[in-house]
Amino acid sequence: MSQTIQSVRGMNDILPGEAEFWEIFEETIRSWLKSYGYKPIRLPIVEPTPLFKRAIGEVTDIVEKEMYSFTDSLNGETLTLRPEGTAGCVRALIQHKLAAQQPQRLYYMGQMFRHERPQKGRYRQFNQVGVESFGYAGPDIDAEQILMGARLWDDLGLDGINLQINSLGQPNERANHRVELIAHFERYADVLDEEAKRRLHTNPLRILDSKNPYMQEVIAAAPILVDHLGSESLAHFEGVQQVLRDAGLPYVLNPRLVRGLDYYNLTVFEWITDRLGAQGTVCAGGRYDALVEQLGGKPTPACGFAMGVERLLALMREAGGEPALEGIDVYLVHQGEAASRMAPRVAEGLRDHGIDVLFHCGGGSFKSQMKKADASGAAFAVIIGDDEAQAGEVTLKPLRSQGDQPNEQKRVGVDAVADEIMNSFIDWEEA
Ligand code: ATP
Ligand code: MG
Repeated sequence: MSQTIQSVRGMNDILPGEAEFWEIFEETIRSWLKSYGYKPIRLPIVEPTPLFKRAIGEVTDIVEKEMYSFTDSLNGETLTLRPEGTAGCVRALIQHKLAAQQPQRLYYMGQMFRHERPQKGRYRQFNQVGVESFGYAGPDIDAEQILMGARLWDDLGLDGINLQINSLGQPNERANHRVELIAHFERYADVLDEEAKRRLHTNPLRILDSKNPYMQEVIAAAPILVDHLGSESLAHFEGVQQVLRDAGLPYVLNPRLVRGLDYYNLTVFEWITDRLGAQGTVCAGGRYDALVEQLGGKPTPACGFAMGVERLLALMREAGGEPALEGIDVYLVHQGEAASRMAPRVAEGLRDHGIDVLFHCGGGSFKSQMKKADASGAAFAVIIGDDEAQAGEVTLKPLRSQGDQPNEQKRVGVDAVADEIMNSFIDWEEA
């Protein structure tokens, strides 16, 4: 016997029964984004490796240890499975000159890949919804993107997702802070882990993002970046907060929020829940005004965020907020030669009316077909035997009892069956 092959560790199948929830989630996402004027963009899953190195930064978790990179053996190109979506989105923006004429509000959703230790809420293949704006420099768009999050949690029936914000200022403002930060961490060098020591002189800000519990005290005592911000950066930050206050949206100022990627400046934010254990960040983002130019485009202010779909679905499941799955409308039972020739036409005729039909395949007795019809969760069985076929009729049998309504089957002309079913649905809704 040959050995079975399993899926790659940390890369999960989403099976029927669960995949429907993903589709409902995705529909909610699409209409939510449409209501803010965001347009879809579909991007490749594989990009040239240098794109991510340049965009995300060499001294980051992602580039140092999480990327799935490989050489295409057919042509020697160095490629990477995308660990996040912003880099590819910016690449496409530049390549197709999308921001040349007008600002853009774009979104995408799909798989991302990071070689991390798999655990609850952390996978090697996971899904993000990414939202990016290009060409807007003011704090209004940052604030709108934050308000968008609040509306989505509401649309998804989620509460207890809390907002943290910070400002990373501009690179020149970070320079002074960097000096202080290095001095601070050097004083506590014995507490730093290997990674922090390595990053001390290359990317000390990143140390603030460490999850190492032994370092939290030293991190909490570190000098604060906001103290180094100039008046323009402070005004931008205040502009964001003004909108949030006007909207009545509570937020927490977290001066140690830095985000795991290098490209951010000014506003950064995270939406965090304490209901998912250690993996509590469900959405994160901020401004990245230098990235487009850094990747070879014209200077273009930009702001965006990404949500972890698995974590949001886990949260919805935990809140008991998963929407009810709709069953199929009709199970079509047929037996006998004339009946089985008529059955596909009846099924297509019902579908013409928007009625969902599960067509019995594989033959078998009436009894066994009826068993399958009962188990299918369909609202009706449409039954065609030789008798019905000859008369140009079908037998319509309700399979779910609706309150005190009689649950009786009846014979209906082929042309009338769709109307009969639609009317029953209306009656049931009114009952
Ligand atoms: P974390 O601090 O949890 O590692 P991150 O800063 O690396 O997150 P981002 O790059 O900001 O994450 O990605 C945005 C969101 O995508 C996260 O807030 C999270 O919800 C989700 N996410 C990131 N990595 C994973 C993963 N390996 N598995 C599942 N979801 C993830
Ligand atoms: Mg991470």
